[in-house]
Amino acid sequence: MFEQFYPYEYAQSVFSIDYDKLYELGYRGLIFDVDNTLVHHGDPSTEEVDAFLLELQSRGFRVVLLSDNETSRLESFTAKTHIPFIPDAGKPSPKGYEAALEKLGLERSEAIVIGDQMFTDIRGANASGLASILVHYVTVPGQRIGKRRYVEKALLVLWRKSGRLHQRLGFVERPL
Ligand SMILES: [Mg+2]
Repeated sequence: MFEQFYPYEYAQSVFSIDYDKLYELGYRGLIFDVDNTLVHHGDPSTEEVDAFLLELQSRGFRVVLLSDNETSRLESFTAKTHIPFIPDAGKPSPKGYEAALEKLGLERSEAIVIGDQMFTDIRGANASGLASILVHYVTVPGQRIGKRRYVEKALLVLWRKSGRLHQRLGFVERPL
């Protein structure tokens, strides 16, 4: 019943994912959410994030950003890196995921979705037959947490007890 919200894996941050392991597993395409996944909602990209995305490309990954945010937001976010993006994705609709796959030019089994929300990023990945990694949302001091985050927390507990659906890739986090 809750399976549609379960990721393949969970990581504290995009920076703590073991991308070498993903590569070994055959993944060549990374589909990143932007807001609260790479930066706090609405924030511009940072030097760290830009360098991180470019480094992933130089390691042989194809990278695409899949966001519900608008074109102008994505244009300014990628101004320095020229990472391709799909704006107005309408997650969890599979439409944006299909467009992202097309941009990557890869098979479904070669791409993985990385995002901070079970109800949008992960649900859409599951609906599209794509593997996914849920990351803890980017936080800033004094931030108020919405109700949905508490529901997600409960779902994560269920996911951890779900057996075959928990850590389907065999754990892909490395210490920060
Ligand atoms: Mg997000």
